[in-house]
Amino acid sequence: MFTGHFAVGLAAKKLSPRTSLPVLIVAAMLLDLIYLPLVLLGIEHMAIEPGITAVTPLNFFYYPFSHSLLAVLFWAGGFGFAHYFFNRHRTGALVVGLLVASHWLLDLVSHRPDLPLVPGVEYFVGLGLWNSVAMTAVVELGLFLWAVRLYGNYTRRDSLAGRVSFWSFFVVLLIMQLMAYQGKPPPSVEVVAWSGIGSWLFILWALWIEKTRRVPGMRPRL
Ligand SMILES: [Zn+2]
Repeated sequence: MFTGHFAVGLAAKKLSPRTSLPVLIVAAMLLDLIYLPLVLLGIEHMAIEPGITAVTPLNFFYYPFSHSLLAVLFWAGGFGFAHYFFNRHRTGALVVGLLVASHWLLDLVSHRPDLPLVPGVEYFVGLGLWNSVAMTAVVELGLFLWAVRLYGNYTRRDSLAGRVSFWSFFVVLLIMQLMAYQGKPPPSVEVVAWSGIGSWLFILWALWIEKTRRVPGMRPRL
């Protein structure tokens, strides 16, 4: 999933309004933010195999350190604990930990059975929503549109910048998602990994949103 993970990060603002949006988005995307550098380092792997699912031509055949259930529990606990350590904010820590875990649950729904439970054990899970582009679009875009509406209604803009930051974020992500549904195979795994690392741009974008829109009556903190 792509916009599905952003959706969960946006919606979590309502659960922990004091936590800044870039932190919520990083938590929701964390497993992929770990996975793609590991691919470039040759520690985890993916391959391009057109037709392996209807939605994505990527075969995620080795990612035990970023995407096994056991690793995810570690990352979720670690991220939640680190957040608590630096902010002393219990709700925020709980929410970011759950966001890290939510990534795996969304992947569980969408991936073919390629998600390991424990590194080194040849047993994989995945419910295969990606076998249907139409069903994926309904679920993922439904989630994304719901979350954008929720965030837009929950936060207030102080200036025009607050409108531009948020709606441009929405439109760019939506266009990228619709292009991804075309299922065009990328030229190489390196291109996939580097463009994934480019998703840090959206985290900076989320910081811009955080600075230009606020939850009424709340002072944001990281
Ligand atoms: Zn993932």
